[in-house]
Amino acid sequence: MNRFSTKTVPNIAISRCLLGEAVRYDGNSKFQPNLIKKLEAVFTLIPICPEVEIGLGVPRPPIHIIEMGAELRAVVIEDPDIDLTQPLQELASEKSLLDIDGFIVKARSPSCGLDSTPHLIEDGSTIYGAGIFSAAYKKANPLVPMVEAETLESPQELEKFIEEVITAASNC
Ligand code: SF4
Repeated sequence: MNRFSTKTVPNIAISRCLLGEAVRYDGNSKFQPNLIKKLEAVFTLIPICPEVEIGLGVPRPPIHIIEMGAELRAVVIEDPDIDLTQPLQELASEKSLLDIDGFIVKARSPSCGLDSTPHLIEDGSTIYGAGIFSAAYKKANPLVPMVEAETLESPQELEKFIEEVITAASNC
């Protein structure tokens, strides 16, 4: 927050399923009540579910990430011809996500994961990396602190993230 900003509380985007909203592919949530309570004390939370935002329903067929060379593709597991890569990448550049001071994402998700999402390689092996939406958001916004919610189970990591966000917000 600079001295011209009217914003007094940093805005944190957060995967909607972590807030207790039943938006996962299987119709469930991944509510993290203790974490959310701590975050709400310091931040304004902006919910986002990339898969719902691009028009997918709940429940929906699960997707996964296929890695082909340097290229990642997000496809429906039971029908790989349904490729959701482009809409998930385009969503990451939407104007509504520009005024964000930090991002907390759900681990292991093909859309939201940061470094824990399985990537299937052409030779049949698996490595771990980012989900399609988070990879695109991080590329477009390299200075915005991003973290997986599970990392914040550590009080030290939570404190570090809060400090990073406040610093980033005060510099924008
Ligand atoms: S796309 Fe992200 S916010 Fe939506 S259900 Fe999956 S992990 Fe949660």
